[in-house]
Amino acid sequence: MKYIVILGDGMADYPIDSLGGKTPLDVAFKPYLDNIAHKGMCGLVKTVPDNLPPGSDVANLSIMGYDPLLYYTGRSPLEAASIGIDLSAEDTSFRVNLVSLSGEDDYQNKTMLDYSADEISTAEAKILIDEIGRTLGNDFLHFYSGISYRHLLVWNGCDTDINLTPPHDITGKHIKNYLSDNTLIYDLMINNYYILKDHKINAIRKKNGLKSADSIWIWGQGKKPLLNSFTDKYSLKGTVISAVDLIKGLAIYAGLSKIDVEGATGNINTNFTAKADAALKALSDNDFVFVHIEAPDECGHRFEVENKVKAIELIDEKVIKPIFETLTKSNTKFSMLVTADHPTPLSLGTHTRDAVPYAIYRHGDNNNNGAYNESNAKNGKYIDVGHKLLDYFIRKDV
Ligand SMILES: [Zn+2]
Repeated sequence: MKYIVILGDGMADYPIDSLGGKTPLDVAFKPYLDNIAHKGMCGLVKTVPDNLPPGSDVANLSIMGYDPLLYYTGRSPLEAASIGIDLSAEDTSFRVNLVSLSGEDDYQNKTMLDYSADEISTAEAKILIDEIGRTLGNDFLHFYSGISYRHLLVWNGCDTDINLTPPHDITGKHIKNYLSDNTLIYDLMINNYYILKDHKINAIRKKNGLKSADSIWIWGQGKKPLLNSFTDKYSLKGTVISAVDLIKGLAIYAGLSKIDVEGATGNINTNFTAKADAALKALSDNDFVFVHIEAPDECGHRFEVENKVKAIELIDEKVIKPIFETLTKSNTKFSMLVTADHPTPLSLGTHTRDAVPYAIYRHGDNNNNGAYNESNAKNGKYIDVGHKLLDYFIRKDV
């Protein structure tokens, strides 16, 4: 039996006026996805435990069958794994954003203008992060440059609990209320500012009308998560297809392989067809394939109603349809789970912790249920502990 999970990130939503009181899942034309719920079943699953944030990392950990309350250690260690950093037990990995701050002389009086420094280019960012690493790094503090504004700091021997704030949560706010009381982190934030403020890269950016990368912002820390092997747990060899570092990192810690698909961008211009092709190819020597598609979440964050509907239709036409039809024609025994990780409601532009609709078609199912959407799912089986969904899908127990 082959097991396929298709995850539409942030796909679930609330009814909205501009769609006539319906949700994107209600109005999208998605015959293959509806068929999975119709012939199989659908229900709601709560992917985010009450006391954890509704992040994609937490929710995807649940969908992959791991209890976030036991295994979630933070966001940065997942990103570290995806760029090939092997953390030791003594290491703590931190997310480092390059950010734009307002122009006051006193660092504390500045305001967070942009958590992404105008989505600074990777090449410019590398020069800045390398400079910071040379000046502020040492035997126990290592900086690693990543993509655009997203970078890493690994602190060997950090053994304290530090309370840090994501920069995207404080846009337009004075930073002084959110600066860390940990001396080392605080000093790193202040001292890097003096390296960056007059840096030639920033002078060029300002000349070109772009925001300068005035400071780093440190957050999202955690130790290496100790996930038990997915293959040992389910006796299935598996792979993960995603454009997103967090999801690739989860795959690595779970002992799953990961496939980098050309043209997988994480937005609505992603190469949906290439993801389906990669999934089908992977199924020739894997029993489990997890296809993560970021596009609906991006549309939710950008309040793009039409694009969110379109993203769902593209997942149906370009991913679910070819996989479902190809496997059916080749008489392959397969089961398919389609789900969201969390809602990203268009009315809010951010994640919520509401339960999300899932649909399961198991080989041979021939039921007569409703379409896949939030309201039909309410009448189906409710799974209140998200990591049990995969047990239910694969082993039929929960
Ligand atoms: Zn997500």
